[in-house]
Amino acid sequence: MNYEEYKKAVEQLNIYSHHYYVLDAPITTDEEYDKLYHEVVRYEEKNSDKVLKNSPTQRVGDVIRDGFTKASHLSRMWSLEDVFDSEGLQKWLEKTYKLDKNISFYCEPKYDGASLNLIYENGELSEGITRGDGEIGEEITANVKTIRSIPLTIEYKEKIEIRGEVVIFKDEFERINEERIKKGEAVFANPRNAAAGSLRQLDSGVTASRNLVFLPYGVGENSLEHKLLSEKMEYIYQLGFRKPPLHSTCQGFEEIETIYEQMSKERESYAMMLDGMVVKVNEIASQIDMGYTVKNPRWAVAYKFPAVEKITTLRNIVLQVGRSGVVTPVAVVEPTDIDGVVVERATLHNFDEIDRKDIRLHDKVIILRSGDVIPKIIKVLVHERDGSEMKFERPSTCPVCGSELLDEGVLLKCQNLTCDARVVNSIIYFASKPCLNIDGLGNKIVEALYHSGLVKSVADLFDLTLEKLLALEGFKEKKSQNLLNSLQNAKGCDYWRFINSLGIEHVGEVASKALSENFGSGFIDATKEEIIAINGIGEEMAESVLEFVRVNRETILKLQNILEPKEPLQKEEAKENPFKNKTVVLTGSMSKSRDEIKELLESLGAKVSGSVSKKTDFVIYGEDAGSKYEKAMNLGVACLTETEMREKISE
Ligand code: NAD
Repeated sequence: MNYEEYKKAVEQLNIYSHHYYVLDAPITTDEEYDKLYHEVVRYEEKNSDKVLKNSPTQRVGDVIRDGFTKASHLSRMWSLEDVFDSEGLQKWLEKTYKLDKNISFYCEPKYDGASLNLIYENGELSEGITRGDGEIGEEITANVKTIRSIPLTIEYKEKIEIRGEVVIFKDEFERINEERIKKGEAVFANPRNAAAGSLRQLDSGVTASRNLVFLPYGVGENSLEHKLLSEKMEYIYQLGFRKPPLHSTCQGFEEIETIYEQMSKERESYAMMLDGMVVKVNEIASQIDMGYTVKNPRWAVAYKFPAVEKITTLRNIVLQVGRSGVVTPVAVVEPTDIDGVVVERATLHNFDEIDRKDIRLHDKVIILRSGDVIPKIIKVLVHERDGSEMKFERPSTCPVCGSELLDEGVLLKCQNLTCDARVVNSIIYFASKPCLNIDGLGNKIVEALYHSGLVKSVADLFDLTLEKLLALEGFKEKKSQNLLNSLQNAKGCDYWRFINSLGIEHVGEVASKALSENFGSGFIDATKEEIIAINGIGEEMAESVLEFVRVNRETILKLQNILEPKEPLQKEEAKENPFKNKTVVLTGSMSKSRDEIKELLESLGAKVSGSVSKKTDFVIYGEDAGSKYEKAMNLGVACLTETEMREKISE
């Protein structure tokens, strides 16, 4: 890199930062940013007399936005130096040991969210300030007070600054996006943007609705006397702050690597997004001696994980038709390795989202893939267009059957009940786990059976014979016999499974169980009033059941004859107990599987539901409980650990 290239790189990084920090809408990936940043660092190391004042290496990045009051931190906030591999870590350790040989380390997650400084005086939260330029940030106390994991009072009475990261848990991120899609609003690109955007709101009501979580990682000004950071952090956690999912003290390279491997392996199972692990010198006296560069503490380093966002090219957009007829656009991208998984497809949500993001065929795009976050296109790199990009036309006819689509604005629907895609997907759904749970009837097999003409509806499945199957390509004796056995086993299933497998709109597992329990096979004659009288079933669901029965009565009876589902037993009234007739939600991992705990609670007369609302009576939480726990706390719903639940039962 020569001086001219260096100047250009600094300019480019500042443009990236403006989009990232000010507009909350990055125009490149962190990986690309970091690559260029490190080229700049290397140039500056060799040419220390030429360092530009506006170089991003010379300052902490965030910018204060209009509309917010500025506030000063009591002591400066910092950024972190980063390393990307063992070699980088080794070099950082050599450099750090030169400053002090007698040190150990404290490792904790590097959370991917927005930094926040909390000032407590006389045990009360007095101010919440964003990091800003490190000295001055945005005063957002009103917003901060809506975050339930931030205690408003603590038992420690001296003045103290507690620093941490504000994040949105992954399941909450997906939930918010689903809600926004339903309302026809733009989706958030990633949990980090969602957290930063939700924290810096002029209306704190919006912040309150987003279930943000605060995770502490350090202290600023304080008069605590702990000699080790690990002890100081334990003290902070027990003041009422959340602990990291994994944190550990250790000695030297090998041990740091081991913790890094573990965290990196487990990161997908954590409720929050991590972009690395932070390694900090544990001895506070040594930290003070080592001090800071213009930007970073010398006693800490971010050991980054492989990136979860990559740049790729959109090759095509294909359309999928679901069993309810909804047509969903799916992006086909240039295959890209993201943290060991080759991503070829990504969701585009719906056609409005394509228009809103102005996604065109052949566009360079950023895709995100991280564990349970569904791979998605989060950004088009408009500045990389060369004119060869093509608009994607919103379809007006079904890509599978050609019939005219119903345009409901956000959703496009194929209304043809006999559309191949709708039928195939209904059969796949019929056989799926929460329905009839028929082994050996995966997508490929259903498609093969359907296209062979043997199976045109679910009822046809039960006319299959060994002879017919063996005549099909790819069906050997063993596979065919297994399939026939699975179909045979589906007979005599629980009645709720039968109802669930019908695929009635808005009726899922919980409602199917409730319908089955209350009516059994009489559900087809239930009136609207009788259905609505069931706890948890509303008008929309009741109407959907009635309409389905009206149109499909013959088919339901025919299938019932074939399957002979078990009428539900008249349930013995459960004895009086604290969970009887209560609505309970389970979250986090427990000593037994979810299903076992659910069964136990159901046997006590509880209704186990999947989502938390004001009507929930108890949330039972295990390790790493996610946003359901946060939501329950926000709504004031009673939260019990598994042990507390068992104690209550034995009472
Ligand atoms: P950073 O985010 O890499 O690291 C510092 C921050 O990490 C701290 O301020 C703190 O908020 C956070 N953090 C999380 N867990 C922590 C822990 N356990 N201990 C201490 N701190 C913890 O640095 P930065 O200066 O905030 O941002 C620079 C980074 O932002 C770049 O490396 C790049 O990845 C990204 N960036 C991207 C673009 C883009 O266009 N994509 C633009 C600018 C910056």
